[in-house]
Amino acid sequence: MINLKTFEVWFITGTQHLYGEETLKQVASHAQQVADFFNKHDKIPVAVVYKPIVKTPEEIFETLLQANTAKNCIGVITWMHTFSPAKMWIRGLNILQKPLLHLHTQFNRDIPWNDIDMDFMNLNQSAHGDREFGFIVTRMRKDRKVAVGHWQDEGVIDQINTWCRAAAGWNDWQGAKFARFGDNMRYVAVTEGDKVEAEMKFGFSVNTYGIGDLVDIINSSSDQAVKELIAEYEESYDMAAELRTGGAKHQAVYDAAKIEIGLHRFLKDGNFKGFSDTFEDLHGMVQLPGIAAQRLMAAGYGFAGEGDWKTAALVRACKVMGAGLDGGNAFMEDYTYHFDPTNEMVLGSHMLEIDASLAKGRPKLEVHPLGIGGKADPARLVFNVAGGDALNASLIDMGNRFRLLVNEVKAVEAKHDLPKLPVARVLWKPLPDMKTGCAAWIYAGGAHHTAYSQNLTTAHLLDFANIADVEFVSIGEDTKIDQFRNELHWNEVYYK
Ligand code: MN
Repeated sequence: MINLKTFEVWFITGTQHLYGEETLKQVASHAQQVADFFNKHDKIPVAVVYKPIVKTPEEIFETLLQANTAKNCIGVITWMHTFSPAKMWIRGLNILQKPLLHLHTQFNRDIPWNDIDMDFMNLNQSAHGDREFGFIVTRMRKDRKVAVGHWQDEGVIDQINTWCRAAAGWNDWQGAKFARFGDNMRYVAVTEGDKVEAEMKFGFSVNTYGIGDLVDIINSSSDQAVKELIAEYEESYDMAAELRTGGAKHQAVYDAAKIEIGLHRFLKDGNFKGFSDTFEDLHGMVQLPGIAAQRLMAAGYGFAGEGDWKTAALVRACKVMGAGLDGGNAFMEDYTYHFDPTNEMVLGSHMLEIDASLAKGRPKLEVHPLGIGGKADPARLVFNVAGGDALNASLIDMGNRFRLLVNEVKAVEAKHDLPKLPVARVLWKPLPDMKTGCAAWIYAGGAHHTAYSQNLTTAHLLDFANIADVEFVSIGEDTKIDQFRNELHWNEVYYK
């Protein structure tokens, strides 16, 4: 499981020597109080660490240099309580490689109408001090998030929370390894992409491993370990008698558990954060991994089918960003439509591998034939998914850049049992409406594979895209198709 509290965000307050010792002591004390408030706040998922106030170009450079190399530091928050002439920041900002949030706040929430004097004015200067800092960041063309408001304001806390989660997702990608078993599903375009460019841009690597090496590990799983895992299945899921130990079709469950153990060991031993496979390359495997992929995703691994390494990496990032929040993040595919004009919606699913972190109620473990791949009937978890706000996100390789695309959706509860559908399923209505949402998605080149999130918002993905410095396009309540198409055209010029 992913624990974000092991990560730190550094709180750095800029000032200068002009004000004298007494004022600087106050600046430091206030900065400590603000950092402490964030650190203890239950909505801020990471540790917020106060750093001594910076007053010179040398102190700024040294602090940001340390931020770059501190392993647990996933980003820095800056605040100019007083005026901090921004040429002092150039050298430090030039080398800063960690995500930056500029907090535009003021220590005193209110103007003390009866007592305000020049001492108050000289201490509470962020209204102009933060503008000076903002100029140099913009002048240097550095991306960052600007959060505005009093530091105890709920809206400010929400923005910091969101950005910390995005920074954690980004940090997780740096040096991350994703394993690819087999190549792309033949002829599929959108799951292709430039893995070298992705590693340069995103920091994670994707490499291929022979399915035979995985099969060897699967085959070496001990009978004892397989039986223990099956006991966990029988405890956790509804299973027909024929699938349980001693049942007529138990072998399929046994084989599936063996695959899970082998796959898990392969990923653990190789320190991988996710994987993809393809039903077209399963040589030596008894089944396509179904429940194995589902359970490994629920344990935090990224996954996508058919060689789709971009979605596997995105699913992993979403899991890190959503760590500790209610709801899940899963690999998803827009599968089938309900085009009833009074109730249009999408049925999302996959052949097998939807993550049970989305499940409403106790999943059923079932075994059914798979129409493709020519292997034995795979075991999979079947479940429904609750209604509520959610989103689909897709990472696309546009050739000269990556694009992160998000569509907000309203998930709806299934009103029918779908007794003959042997896979997990989700129903949703794309925002702003089915026709606009789907048209915009297709104009933007969005994939059929997505990361589906119940606990992230467009704001998380926007912060994430800004940190990654990639194009971000979102489809939501306010999307108008003509405007959206213009935006895509304008972006073509921007990224030329
Ligand atoms: Mn697929």
